[in-house]
Order: sequence, then C-alpha cells, then structure tokens
Amino acid sequence: MLSDQKSIAVSLENPTRRSFIGLSSVALATTAFAGLTAHAQERASTQKAEHDHSVSDPGQENKALLALNPNSNTPPPTDHGDVVPIWYSFDLVKKRVGEGGWTHEVTERVLPSSKDIAGVNMRLTAGSYREMHWHTADEWAYVLYGKARVTVMQPDGKMFIGDVEEGDLWIFPAGHPHSIQGLGPDGTEFLLVFNQGGFSEDGTMLLSEWIAHTPPEVLAKNTGLEVSVFANAPKPPLYIFPGTQPGSLAADKAEIGGETVAARSQYTFRLKSMAPTKSSKGGEVRIVDSKNFPVSKHVAAALVTVKPGGMREMHWHPHDSEWQFYIAGKARMTVFFPVDNARTVDFNANDVGYVPNNAPHYIENTGDTDLVFLETFASSEFVDVSLNQWLRRVPSEMLKAHLNIDKAQAMKIPSENQGVI
Ligand code: MN
Ligand code: MN
Repeated sequence: MLSDQKSIAVSLENPTRRSFIGLSSVALATTAFAGLTAHAQERASTQKAEHDHSVSDPGQENKALLALNPNSNTPPPTDHGDVVPIWYSFDLVKKRVGEGGWTHEVTERVLPSSKDIAGVNMRLTAGSYREMHWHTADEWAYVLYGKARVTVMQPDGKMFIGDVEEGDLWIFPAGHPHSIQGLGPDGTEFLLVFNQGGFSEDGTMLLSEWIAHTPPEVLAKNTGLEVSVFANAPKPPLYIFPGTQPGSLAADKAEIGGETVAARSQYTFRLKSMAPTKSSKGGEVRIVDSKNFPVSKHVAAALVTVKPGGMREMHWHPHDSEWQFYIAGKARMTVFFPVDNARTVDFNANDVGYVPNNAPHYIENTGDTDLVFLETFASSEFVDVSLNQWLRRVPSEMLKAHLNIDKAQAMKIPSENQGVI
C-alpha cells in the first residue's frame, strides 16, 4: 500500500520538493480522493508550474528560512487563500537575560490570533530562583530539561513543595503565590503556558516590588519586625536571581511545619512517564486534564509522539483553540478554515503552532526522527473529534453520496479515534 502511494507521489511531485516533504504528499496522491479537490483546475496548473520554469526564483532568497519552511514557500496545491497566523517561534523573540537565567515569550503580541493562551520559555541555572510572585492567569508548565523545586501556597495557607524533572509538569492556579528554583547538576529549562493570550511574564506581581512600594512603617506594623529590617532587602525587581541549592525536599517540608501545613492536592504531575492514553503504530498520546490531574481546572494538554511516517490524524477540537509547542523532530500542519482557506506550515523544535477553535487540522511527521509536541488548551478537558471515526459512523450510502467511497473501501478506514496513525 505504502509503496504504491509512494510511486504515485513520485510521478506528481518534482524530486527536489519531495525530498523536503517526504511522505507528506501521500495523502494528496491517494487515488480514492483524486477528484475531490474544489480547485482541480488550479491544482493542475500549480503542479504543472512546479515542473517548468514558473517556480524559478532568480532574485534573493533567505536559504536558511527556505530550508526550514518548504511548505510556506511552495505550498501544496490544496492550499488556498489564507488563515489567521498559525506559526511563530521562540527563536524569533528576544531573551530577557539576568544573572541566573533567562526568559522569553510568545504571546498575543507576536501571534495575534492566540487570544486564549500565551507561552513562556525559561531557564534557571542550578540554585537560581524565579522570584516569589503570582499573577492573574493560571500557570501550566512542562519541564524540558533538568530539575527544579517548586512551591505554591493555597489561599487557605496550605503549602505544596515538590521537585520536578524533564517530562513533569506543574500547575499554579491564578492568584496562588509560587516560586521556582533550579536544582543540580545544571538547573532547568521549562515551558510555561498561561490561559490568557495577552499574558506577559513582565507583568507579574513580584514580592520584591510590592515590598518596595509599601511604606516601611506599614511593613513593620504588618510583620511585627523592626523598620530597619526592610532597609536591607535587595533592590527590586529580583525576577530571576542566583541562589544556593536547597537541601532535601523532606527537610524543606519538615522545616515549614510538615503535614500540618501540607496541601492535600498535588500540584505536579509526571506526564512523560505516565502510560499512554492512546497508542498505535504511528505513535502515542498522553493526555492530562482535570480528569487525571484535578487541580488543572483551566488548562488541558496532550503530549504527542509521532513516529517517522506517522501522522496526528485529521481532527478538530469542538470547544477550544489549540496552542502547540514543538519539542523535537520536524512536522507540517495544514489548517482549513471556511470559506475556502487552507494554509500549510512547517515546524521545528522550539516553534509554536496555533489552531483556531474548531478548525480541522492534521500534523504530519516530515522528518526521520520522532516528532514530539504539546497540544494545549485553555480548558478543563481535552476533547477532540476524529474524521476517521465520523466517516465510519455514518451509513455507507451516505458516505457514497458524499465522497464516492464504497463500503469495501470505507471498511479500511480506522473506526476509532486513534490520535496518531
Ligand atoms: Mn508564575
Ligand atoms: Mn489538535
């Protein structure tokens, strides 16, 4: 089956372009769907152009960008019109660097279509702190590298302290004061997801700034300490700053009062090491939302691994827009949006993807290594709808009428939402 599809793909595509997109042209070339495109004339014309002098580009080219974005430069003939911005990269935004680490963010300001979610990528060296603070958005985090210790206090005064490592996540609900500290041997790097598109790490409530903006006699009255004590506080903002590595987790927990002050809820979660929610020959999906991580009431996510040649199947999300972070490998995604718009873009590690609420899409592994990415949603539950499952649930006469697919062919379509195929 695969080899037949490949040979069709070869006959339709010029070899240079095919080497960029690999198996990605298979779906386009599948004969069962050959007559279905609404733009047959335009498609044929585009394909012809790709074989003659029409696509030559004798002027300037940014070859580094072209190599990373073949589908943007030469879109598949099924693309038409345009959709809202669906791509950005952390490697295009400035880093705010301080002693102890750095941060940078992809928010609504650079990806204006993303109204529901903003992302921050942060590095803390061993011992360094992200200052005690809080903010108006929920903070969902995925650890990309190393180890960290996190603390968060509930409004009732109960405290959670936990250690995380690569593949773990945490949630700090809005308004819950928290801290993060890099642990040895080399600190940590993590992705933060906030359920506000306009969120900025530069706009958080910092302990140091609040203290600096309060009259010293009020600080003294409030804490019962001498006025002179606060004169020695470091100058704000601390934000990211170096520190010494903490002792054991058990020692920290005991020091603050042990079980009597411990939160009953767990604010960290081991996502990468949990059993897959779905797995198939094409890859695996691990879903975390309020069903298996009850404190995550406003962010739902899936950690998706797609093997070479595999694909996150054609689907959509009925309630939410999707914000993606690419962890490893290479991908392309096409987003369709009425009327008559479709856009295909490429992704590499450290890129961000966006899909409008309900817009159908797929994500295909276009590389020769595992593709790993996060799908995140400002939502309590992960919900998706599978095209394949829908096609297999309608009566065969209906499928024949809509797609000219007969029952024997329809039976080859997977009947379940497999997540990755
Ligand atoms: Mn925070
Ligand atoms: Mn999706």
